[in-house]
Amino acid sequence: MKNKVIIITGAAMGLGFAAAKEIAKKGGNLVLVDFNEEALQKSVNELKDEFPDIEIISIIADVSDEEQVKNYIDKAVEKFGRIDGLYNNAGIEGRQAPLTTYDINVFKKVIDINLMGVYYGLKYVIPVMQKQNYGRIVNVASVGGIRGVLNQTPYVASKHAVSGMSKQAAVEYGKDGILTNAIAPGAILTPMVAEAFKQVNPDDPKAAEAEYAKRNPTRALGDPQDVGKLVAFLISEENGYISGQTIAIDGGESNMYGNAE
Ligand code: NAD
Repeated sequence: MKNKVIIITGAAMGLGFAAAKEIAKKGGNLVLVDFNEEALQKSVNELKDEFPDIEIISIIADVSDEEQVKNYIDKAVEKFGRIDGLYNNAGIEGRQAPLTTYDINVFKKVIDINLMGVYYGLKYVIPVMQKQNYGRIVNVASVGGIRGVLNQTPYVASKHAVSGMSKQAAVEYGKDGILTNAIAPGAILTPMVAEAFKQVNPDDPKAAEAEYAKRNPTRALGDPQDVGKLVAFLISEENGYISGQTIAIDGGESNMYGNAE
């Protein structure tokens, strides 16, 4: 990926940071976007130490704000003159609650970040990629983008929408050399998932984690590095013809009917 320029949103931790590492290993230059300034700076410092030969810039932005998304795209073009890949990864889970009593403000926030944040990214990066006649986009959906998940109505709605928008972008802009896919991770042990286990069992989140892992065909949670490797492939030129797909990375869990044992 030498001389390629890849933007990652939500890059300060979790799946975004893991993908940054895998792309850096392949020599790609990075534009790292997050709204958590302190965590982003820490991650950028770590990457710069480990990968001194690539160029890395960081931009503080909230992806739910259209102007801030336009700005991170503009800044990336200003610095590098092109954008080869966008990993639309920033997202939140929201608070877990049944559909009929879900807090409407949290609902709207989840939609603003998970759905609109991805849409704004597409809206501003696609014209840049069209000029190059080349681009690779990976949007983060979830197994919650292909299945229902108890107590997560806005999350599931937003992630189904991300899967749909990925098909849409693939269909409309394949003619311009732009391949767009969504990924659907299962439970991958990141700070977001650790927080979810705290909500399920505040007294013993590790017990909730172990209970969850038992349901997976592999009896384990996923590792962020595995997701990073998939993203590093889909967002590179090595991906020549995969587009419009929602690719599950979940140990097979979304294909299982009934209990694991
Ligand atoms: P995380 O909470 O560990 O990291 C998310 C990062 O995104 C954080 O650095 C956070 O500051 C940033 N972020 C959140 N909202 C933002 C905003 N509005 N603007 C800019 N940055 C923002 O989460 P994660 O587990 O790494 O999840 C990353 C993505 O993967 C999310 O879209 C999530 O829904 C999706 N996902 C995760 C899992 C999993 O198991 N971890 C499974 C399926 C899907």
